[in-house]
Amino acid sequence: MSSSVDYVGPRAAFATLGGSPTWGLGDLFHDFAAKHGHARLGVHRPRTPYGLGPQVEHYRSPSGREFLRIPTYGQVVDEDPQLHGSEWKTFWILWKAGVRVLLVGGTSGSCDWRRTAVDEDAVRPGDLVLPKSYLTRDTMPTGLPGTELEFCLPRQVAIMDDPFCPPLAETLRAGAGRLRDFRFRRIHGPEAGVVLNRWLAGNGFESLATCRMLEASGRQIGMPVITGDCVSPVLARVCGIHLAYYHVVANWGTGLEPEDPTIALNRLYMETLPAVAAAFELAFLDEASEPTTCRCRELLRTRPPEYARALSPPAAK
Ligand SMILES: [Zn+2]
Repeated sequence: MSSSVDYVGPRAAFATLGGSPTWGLGDLFHDFAAKHGHARLGVHRPRTPYGLGPQVEHYRSPSGREFLRIPTYGQVVDEDPQLHGSEWKTFWILWKAGVRVLLVGGTSGSCDWRRTAVDEDAVRPGDLVLPKSYLTRDTMPTGLPGTELEFCLPRQVAIMDDPFCPPLAETLRAGAGRLRDFRFRRIHGPEAGVVLNRWLAGNGFESLATCRMLEASGRQIGMPVITGDCVSPVLARVCGIHLAYYHVVANWGTGLEPEDPTIALNRLYMETLPAVAAAFELAFLDEASEPTTCRCRELLRTRPPEYARALSPPAAK
């Protein structure tokens, strides 16, 4: 790790990490964007303290707003995201680039316990989810090593109420309602209390046992659980970023229904979803305003200076 690296790349207040909903476009997101009036101004590959970062695409939207796009959560082909510090690299870039609003999309499997055909409230394949909260069972990154955000807990603590910015969830809900030629079966907003079980990197989906457990705990806490991609909400909060998260439910959790999720997923990713999700993301990036009524900033709470003094002083340089 090298703390002396300076960020060299474009700056913008708005950004997206894309995600699995637009995978079907491959590396041609910019082509699709151009057809919708978004100009790609440049493609960069910034260095970060943790090594060469992911690709950063710089766009100008039809309304003149500039935004950044880092493809697929900042993941690089053939690199284990965890082994290569992918989330550190990605958030370091967003932080240095001055990003304040971050749009992320994902696809997920539903572990909702309400699966009978007549249960219209259930979170089912074909639905759009704006999650209320998240669960995590891995040790997700919560700071940026080698920077002032490495371990800021004694100075400021991220309260993880409203991890996904509520006003931005409303912007997403409105945008989904305005999509041309496409309707989600149902939109579950934050009021539906859906929990996103974080999964970002790895070569396998959840096991049948994990899905059964998530199904049972969802029923127990009265909050249906979906499993899918999720960048660290703590890291976003610590970096001062409003996180707008949407999930398209693609399948049932492994083993909960006798379907092979990969078949449904490939069809969805290649045929239905790419154009819909890309149009949805581009419209958000063009139109969303920076929220003023949320608590994202306030929930990063400053702590009394005594707390930091209660730790050993830093090593003399
Ligand atoms: Zn916010």
